[in-house]
Amino acid sequence: DIAPGSEILETSLGVLHEVFGYDDFRGPQADIVSHVGGGGDALVLMPTGGGKSLCYQVPAIVRERAGRGLTVVVSPLIALMHDQVGALLEAGVAAAFLNSSLSLEDAQQVEKQMLRGELTLLYAAPERLTTPRFLALLDSLQERGRLSLFAIDEAHCVSQWGHDFRPEYRALAVLHERYAGVPRVALTATADDLTRADIVERLRLQDARTFISSFDRPNIRYQLVEKKDASTQLQRFIRDEHMGADGHDAGIVYCQSRRRVEEVATLLCEAGFNALPYHAGLDAAVRQHHQDRFLREEGLIMVATIAFGMGIDKPDVRFVAHLDMPKNIEGYYQETGRAGRDGEPATAWMAYGLQDVVNQRRMIDESPAADEFKQVLRGKLDALLTLAEASDCRRVRLLKYFGENSQPCGNCDNCLTPPEMHDATEAARKLLSCIYRVQQASGTAFGAGHIMDILRGKATDKVKQYGHEKLSTFGIGADLSETQWRALLRQLIAREAVEVHDAPYNTLHLAGAARDILKGQSLVQLRALADKAGGSARSGR
Ligand code: ADP
Ligand code: ZN
Repeated sequence: DIAPGSEILETSLGVLHEVFGYDDFRGPQADIVSHVGGGGDALVLMPTGGGKSLCYQVPAIVRERAGRGLTVVVSPLIALMHDQVGALLEAGVAAAFLNSSLSLEDAQQVEKQMLRGELTLLYAAPERLTTPRFLALLDSLQERGRLSLFAIDEAHCVSQWGHDFRPEYRALAVLHERYAGVPRVALTATADDLTRADIVERLRLQDARTFISSFDRPNIRYQLVEKKDASTQLQRFIRDEHMGADGHDAGIVYCQSRRRVEEVATLLCEAGFNALPYHAGLDAAVRQHHQDRFLREEGLIMVATIAFGMGIDKPDVRFVAHLDMPKNIEGYYQETGRAGRDGEPATAWMAYGLQDVVNQRRMIDESPAADEFKQVLRGKLDALLTLAEASDCRRVRLLKYFGENSQPCGNCDNCLTPPEMHDATEAARKLLSCIYRVQQASGTAFGAGHIMDILRGKATDKVKQYGHEKLSTFGIGADLSETQWRALLRQLIAREAVEVHDAPYNTLHLAGAARDILKGQSLVQLRALADKAGGSARSGR
């Protein structure tokens, strides 16, 4: 039977050496395998590449050898199931998977193996697990005391606050209700407080022990730049930082839309880079082919929507670039986490601009979700925007978001070249009063472009049409460039002094935090901008 504490650890170490060929557990793995091996429930939060798989594979083997029977692994990723089962079989572990890629006969074969007690690990898609047919199989094992452990991988999929909600995960609550005595371990690489609480609640893990690893990925250098001409900036970034003697590094470039993916992939190829597109609109065979090439060949750039990446284990991705801002920090962290899994230096580069904020806001506003839900999404977007606008250490902020305190890292753009800050309170007040005056004078709100024209004293047709050249705020901001005004506006949006409403079209409105700034009670700092400082990002080199 299963022995307690140190003995389990010893047995687990034996399995680690003998089956996996590794010398030692990493970080919290030792504690986790002891706890789970001994039948405890666990919630494991560990960054990508941290070694989550061993946290259930080792206990599965230990428990099977102690006569406890089968471990069922819930995973949403077919590709990952294939890889893991392949690796386990190679290591001599009896493993199999059940998912939609199997023929009926093959699936029945696996079910038979399962019932005969021939398997140590079975990987199954969540929708499969909760079918009456599959539950009947589990019942039969359970009756014979041969159901050992449930491992729920990518557990954040259960939460609508997570970035990858999968409704099928909700039904996994049945595991707890129907097989109350069977231990469960849930694992994820990203979960902020809200998502974490949701996982605990939805999967009934209130009594589980939580294991949180540091989310820091010290080898990843974070660089967030203001978007001007994103694809030119991207090319310059790759040329400057990811060019070797025999070509460029392997990287992933994320874009918001399929159309943009195609455009950027074409642009990169025309500029002599080795790039391939990947998005859900491509034929499945083409997608598979591009993915295989990315994994196999060196120095390939995958230009993709977020459809690409989950479950792709390529250790030497040297950069992840975002040409559009993601929805929230969790998504950003998950996507950038695909860089540098081998621990060697890698870059997470993002270009962001006002239009990104406006687009993301609009997607939230136009979604059919409930208001309370939209409010949460807006909050998450704001947190990312605040990270982008930050002038202090990116890593400190990123880790803080996941509940970790840390010191400035020395390996992000702001640490390496601290931005020059200047007081922009006066400019902020001009911008806020302009938004206010214009709305008051015309009884309707206007978009950023029009407000900038008024501030900068540009008597466009539209300005004249509304008589806005007669306003007291006309021309009061001629000293700043449009780029600078936009940067300031982004910051005011991030600070919730300005809101963008989508009806009738991206109009600007004063919001809660505007009052303190207008009254001079709250200061606004602005990063000195490239065009004022005289040159592009390259000039410092
Ligand atoms: P995750 O699922 O958390 O992203 P994996 O389980 O895929 O991480 O592990 C990442 C890599 O680290 C794999 O190549 C794995 O074999 C390796 N690894 C994990 N734990 C150890 C260990 N204790 N010793 C050596 N290598 C390990
Ligand atoms: Zn830093």
